[in-house]
Amino acid sequence: MAPIRLAIVGLGKIARDQHLGAIEATNGIELVAVASRHAKLDGVACFHEIGDLLDSDMEIDAVSLCTPPQGRFSQAKAALDAGKHVMLEKPPGATLSEVYALDALARRKGLTLFSTWHSRAAAAVEPARALLAKRKIRSVAVEWKEDVRHWHPGQAWIWEPGGLGVFDPGINALSIVTRIMPEEFHLTRSELTFPVNRAAPIAASLVFETDSGVPVSAEFDWRQTGPQTWDIRVETDEGSVVLTHGGSRLFVNGESVIVEEDKEYRNLYRDFVALVMKGASDTDFSPLVHVADAFMLGRRIQTAAFED
Ligand code: NAP
Repeated sequence: MAPIRLAIVGLGKIARDQHLGAIEATNGIELVAVASRHAKLDGVACFHEIGDLLDSDMEIDAVSLCTPPQGRFSQAKAALDAGKHVMLEKPPGATLSEVYALDALARRKGLTLFSTWHSRAAAAVEPARALLAKRKIRSVAVEWKEDVRHWHPGQAWIWEPGGLGVFDPGINALSIVTRIMPEEFHLTRSELTFPVNRAAPIAASLVFETDSGVPVSAEFDWRQTGPQTWDIRVETDEGSVVLTHGGSRLFVNGESVIVEEDKEYRNLYRDFVALVMKGASDTDFSPLVHVADAFMLGRRIQTAAFED
């Protein structure tokens, strides 16, 4: 089969940091075009925005949307309407209704829609899921604390409605927990801390409960300087199962069992090629459902103004 001819839409931080290298390293897919209002890339056709690309005679099979979540719906819809497979960065959209609408459209058109969760593709996630399926879980505690100034410099969209604030990284933790837990869980308490000058939270404190009553807690905070924390600690009847470094390391009963270099995006593009070849989609929106619940149930607390 000829390689999938792919266009990237939104050539920003994540496209440059991860997507370009991962596409290069993946068999069965090649980057042939970019659509970005301000950025260009040597060696491929460059367009101002997705509409110009889709209206052109450029032959592509798929698009990978690396734009902010606000506005992603109309880009994805335009691509699907034009008969292209679509890969969505996380979060898959700005609202639940729009992502479910995209899922339905892709199915009607017989096209692949891949709602990616890069943290789920980290090395420790599937082994943790397999381990936890055999143990009785007593509690889960997530700590996802990072420095927004370091990771999101000058990204105005992330503080706007639909940008999710601290849930932009926090949803990565939720994408792992929804994958490794053997049962469903639902939110029971949410506390969101908003800087007085921002429309999105800088911190969140969440409490969930599984169907059988196991407590799950999550602390997200964007004010952490120094060492960064992306940890998930699961206590079980046979000891602890701990994922650190965003899911790339696994400790079982205190012993290190997995330490792997970051291959998340290479895994995502490998999976996208396989989905297109099978004619299938992968659209699990459950992490976004939990984020929506956190906003719906959230008690709001104001804190000092945040300046970049
Ligand atoms: P970014 O650096 O702001 O890049 C997004 C690009 O999209 C911009 O450079 C911009 O390029 C284009 N764009 C189109 N419409 C835009 C708008 N209304 N406002 C701002 N930019 C717009 O953001 P990013 O960090 O790459 O994040 C993009 C997506 O990837 C987000 O959903 C994020 O959650 C996800 N992600 C980010 C990271 C990370 O570490 N940064 C990690 C994993 C996933 P033009 O101006 O040239 O059009």
